Amino acid sequence: TEPSLQKEDSDFKDGKGMFKGHDMLAPFTAGWQTTDVNPLVIERTEGCYAYDANGKRYLDALAGLWCTALDSDTTVNIGIANMSRAIFCNVGYLKPFVFHQDKISSSELIGWRSEVTSSGAGKVKIGEARLEISRRERGNEPRLVEAATAQLNKLPFYHSFWNRTTKPSLDLAKDLLETFTARKMAKVFFTNSGSEANDTQVKLVWYYNNALGRPNKKKFIARAKSYHGSTLISASLSGLPALHQKFDLPAPFVLHTDCPHYWRYHLEGETEEEYSTRLANNLENLIVKEGPETIAAFIAEPVMGAGGVILPPATYFEKIQAVVKKYNILFIADEVICAFGRLGTMFGCDKYNIKPDLVSVAKALSSAYMPIAGVMVSPEISEVIYSESNKLGTFSHGFTYSGHPVSCAVAIEALKLYKCVSILPLRKSISHPCRERNIVEKVESISPRFQDGLKSFSDSPIVGEIRGTGLIHGTEFTDNKSPNDPFPSEWGMFHFYFLFLLERKLSSVCMIGIGAYFGSQCEKQGLLIRVAGDSIMMSPPLIITPPEVDELINKYGRALKATEERVKELKYQ
Ligand code: PMP
Repeated sequence: TEPSLQKEDSDFKDGKGMFKGHDMLAPFTAGWQTTDVNPLVIERTEGCYAYDANGKRYLDALAGLWCTALDSDTTVNIGIANMSRAIFCNVGYLKPFVFHQDKISSSELIGWRSEVTSSGAGKVKIGEARLEISRRERGNEPRLVEAATAQLNKLPFYHSFWNRTTKPSLDLAKDLLETFTARKMAKVFFTNSGSEANDTQVKLVWYYNNALGRPNKKKFIARAKSYHGSTLISASLSGLPALHQKFDLPAPFVLHTDCPHYWRYHLEGETEEEYSTRLANNLENLIVKEGPETIAAFIAEPVMGAGGVILPPATYFEKIQAVVKKYNILFIADEVICAFGRLGTMFGCDKYNIKPDLVSVAKALSSAYMPIAGVMVSPEISEVIYSESNKLGTFSHGFTYSGHPVSCAVAIEALKLYKCVSILPLRKSISHPCRERNIVEKVESISPRFQDGLKSFSDSPIVGEIRGTGLIHGTEFTDNKSPNDPFPSEWGMFHFYFLFLLERKLSSVCMIGIGAYFGSQCEKQGLLIRVAGDSIMMSPPLIITPPEVDELINKYGRALKATEERVKELKYQ
């Protein structure tokens, strides 16, 4: 229950005696917040940073909503260096020379272009060179902005109904299928959001089973604590009670099985492998109890995101996949958060060796610069849709903005930036390959700094578990380091009053609990994170640099210290 608001308190009113607040019914925001509290208004972003309307700078440790992966790391031309005599052995050899000449630190300089005006023979070339030197600068990603602008100027909209479509939609479908290599996928259906993608999954699976003459094979199994979206069907699939309560959900065709959180749910002495076996057995028992002929699909995020960043225990997906395969149940990978490098692999399926029948993608597909999401389907499913069309005609599902050309143009550019570009051979004009991001490698290399830095706080008396992989992180606060000893929620309630009365500007953390206290402490210091009950989550932009990781960890550490102090006060008062 939320505290009753003291609306008569003039502190909560503006100069004209009006309550603060705004005119939106805002997503995942309490009604009282939109009415009585000033929102945190973000005015601009610059790299990993967001600035509010008062000019306060925040390190955005959630990349918006786990999505603005590329929101920085732009290259800016900073000058030209002429080299009257230069030896070109390979591209790398130029580097020290350039650093020396222009006093640019190696972390700043990320690329150059050279024009070799005369050259020798063979691999070693001697000549004059004109170097255009570029430097990393924080800002929004100009290539994504340019892709959107160019497309807006050329063709701002056309739809994809009735086999009319646009080139960017066709090109993106091709690129996306090529990018997903965990198994072969045949076709892509574009949507505008992850929720629409998962609703589309359900309709596709039903269509498929209807076509195959299996009208009873319609139930879905999802997992407790999963998040698949907030439309009627995707919210039903989600395993979070807050998405169901007061909305008459979940829909009856959705069943939920165990959340695979080893730390919280394993039995004493049970290894991760044994725990995974138990969960796979539970899933099998559920399928058998319901009747395998009624179960259509199983849906899972490779790493659970909004449920608290929960990593699958060892052998989990191997065992779960064996069960669903045994009963002819489709496997849907919800890659909305995990795809495009977040876990240090291009897709979550690559990391956990998942061979899905269907895949949902969204968010980082366009680095969230434009709304776009999609569903990839296997050749088997595509084949059934193809043959069914002989009987039914059109596949009657879709959105006005399915495959919007501007969103597709941005996503095409984002995919280019994510992908690895091989070293270019020396030639007349060289663009240094660092201009392309090779994001997977980048995440892999920075991940230990991020993960180990945060794990160093594991000894904190209020931390139960610190977990993560790649650039995704979850901290769970508990008393006595035990999953069975949550902090009393009234403490957060007390904090809520405290915040509301004394620190009204900090208004974007609305939840109650110690996690919320931690979240507000982060916000106070300029660090944006996500709070869900007693867990907090982070997923910084994939282009985060080592100094920014250090800044994030320092701010986290200070917020943790403040939260420890608060817990101490509350415990012994
Ligand atoms: N699936 C997952 C795994 C998600 O994390 C989300 C959003 N956080 C969704 C689906 C829903 O996406 P959207 O908010 O774009 O509808």
